[in-house]
Order: sequence, then C-alpha cells, then structure tokens
Amino acid sequence: MERYARQWVFPGIGREGQEKILAARVVVLGCGALGCSSSMALARAGVGHLTLVDRDFPELNNLNRQILFDEADVAARIPKAVAAARRLAQINSSIRLDPVVADVNPANILSILSGADVVVDGTDNLDTRYLLNDAAAKLRIPWVYGGAIAAGGMWMTFRPGRGPCFRCLFPYRPGAGVGETCETAGVLGGLPMAVGGMQAVEVMRLLVGEETVGGRLVSLDGWKGTVAQVDVGRLRARDCPTCRGEYEFLEGKHGNRAELLLCGNTVQILQARAQPVQLDELAARLAPLGEVENNGFLVRFVPEDGIEMVVFADGRTLVCGTSDLAKARSLHAQYVGA
Ligand SMILES: [Zn+2]
Repeated sequence: MERYARQWVFPGIGREGQEKILAARVVVLGCGALGCSSSMALARAGVGHLTLVDRDFPELNNLNRQILFDEADVAARIPKAVAAARRLAQINSSIRLDPVVADVNPANILSILSGADVVVDGTDNLDTRYLLNDAAAKLRIPWVYGGAIAAGGMWMTFRPGRGPCFRCLFPYRPGAGVGETCETAGVLGGLPMAVGGMQAVEVMRLLVGEETVGGRLVSLDGWKGTVAQVDVGRLRARDCPTCRGEYEFLEGKHGNRAELLLCGNTVQILQARAQPVQLDELAARLAPLGEVENNGFLVRFVPEDGIEMVVFADGRTLVCGTSDLAKARSLHAQYVGA
C-alpha cells in the first residue's frame, strides 16, 4: 500500500479507491503505443491483474512510441505481449500479468474479455474496435477508446447501457479503413503517451466508481497545444445494431477472412481450425530449406530473398514482403501446411 501513497493521498482515489484498483482486472487489447503507455501507468498504479493481448512482435520503427520495448526485444522478435509483461513485471512484481499472443477475432474475444472490469482499446484497426464494441456491449464491460496519429489524439470512455456506443458515434461503413494510418501519416511518440496516460486515468476513475466518466469525446492537437471536448452523451443512435443487441461483428458478418492484408506489405493467414504448431518440429523441418530462427514464441523463416514468414505457436502466420494474397497463401501451404 505504501508504494501507492502518492496515488491514494489524492482525494479522488483514497485508500478505499486504491483497494479497488488492487482488486481489479483490466484487459489491454493491443500492445502498440497506446497499450504500452496505458498498461505501464496501470501497472504502476497497482491494477491487480493485467491481461496484455497482442498478435505482433516489435520492429525498430515502433520504438519512438512503444515505451515497453527496446532494441533487444526487436532483435529477438519477442512477441509484444510477452515483452510487455516482462517489462511490467520488473516495474511491479506484486501484480498478476497475463500475456496473450493472439489475433483478436470473433472466435476468441469473449473468452479474452470475460471477467474484466474494464478494457483498454489499444487496437490499431477499426474492425477490431467494432468487434470490441460488440463484445463489451454483450458482456456489459466498460471500455476506454483511444487513438493517436500524426500529432493528434483522442479518447473516450464507453459504458454499455449509458450513453452512445462507439458504433452510434461512428456508424460502420463497409470499405472503411482507407483513412490515414501510422504508416502514411506518422505519429509523434508523445501523443500516444498522452492519450494512453489519459486512458489509464479513465480506467482508474471507472474502478473507483466515479460517476461522471463517459459521454465526452476529448481530442488533443499536440502540435497546436490545444484540447477540445465534445459532449456526445445524448447521441445514442436509434438504428445502432450494437445497441439493439445485434452483434454483427461478433457474429463475423463483416468479414472474418482467412487472409488479411496488414499495414506494411504483410499478409496474415489464419486457419479456420487453428491447430497449435509445434515450433521445434516446424523449425527442424524448415532448416534445410532456408534461414530459420526459433525463439520459443515464433519461428521465422526466409523462403526466398525479400520474403519472411513468421509462424506463431497458435498457428497464425505472417508473410512479410508481399501484398499478394494468393502468393502468401501458396507459400503458407508449401512451408507450413494447409
Ligand atoms: Zn450503439
């Protein structure tokens, strides 16, 4: 309790609030820039149980903003969820940390979120955010949206049954996702640190039972140094499927493709019936065919110049260096197996 003294001495938290924080379970969905910043603040705040979910491993160009990772994590391709949990354990050894290396999808999101008091949105794409919105509504778990790009950021807390949901405010339009991304617009590291920090504050306000949380979308222009907030508490949409209990994303109605083109010239391949992969066995089988590395969490394989395949233990495969879905599928069939 003493290590949190500078926190509970603040009247909004108090000793009673700190007890609630210590007893809480928070799921951080995505360990990119927002997930790193928010989970670091939450671990330091003493959130008793943090589940860290991410499908990826860190790259050098992530380090300007993803504050839980270092060059050694990049070199060893330690999955972000695992590297984050290791770093947070060094920061606070008294909390429970569960890394989950997985792609969040309609088949697994309910079990990942089940039992959480709050979910932090650290996702990097709209489809996963709509999926989170559906799952949180169904499980009636509040969640804290966050976004940061270029020199701007925004955040808002959504509380199922109180005010609008994410889809009420941003109705889904098929073909979405053509907007700017961190690849095209860049992102200054301080922005996701600010937004992730505020997401963590929102989580703490929820955990201590602060009534006024939610209903306001706050946006920050870091370059101009301005903050704006919009009161959206009454903007619940009458025709919002999620608010009517029609969870289209959870039911996989908006695409749950086996192959998915990710940012940065990479194709992700998910198998319909994902079989866990024996990484040692796979690495041994691929060894005569090209450059292979196995770090215990994933196998990296270079089948040809300019192409790199990464196979995770859950059977998911990334084919980096191509945006050709058919080529990626054929490499996967050839080396990993259908
Ligand atoms: Zn809604």
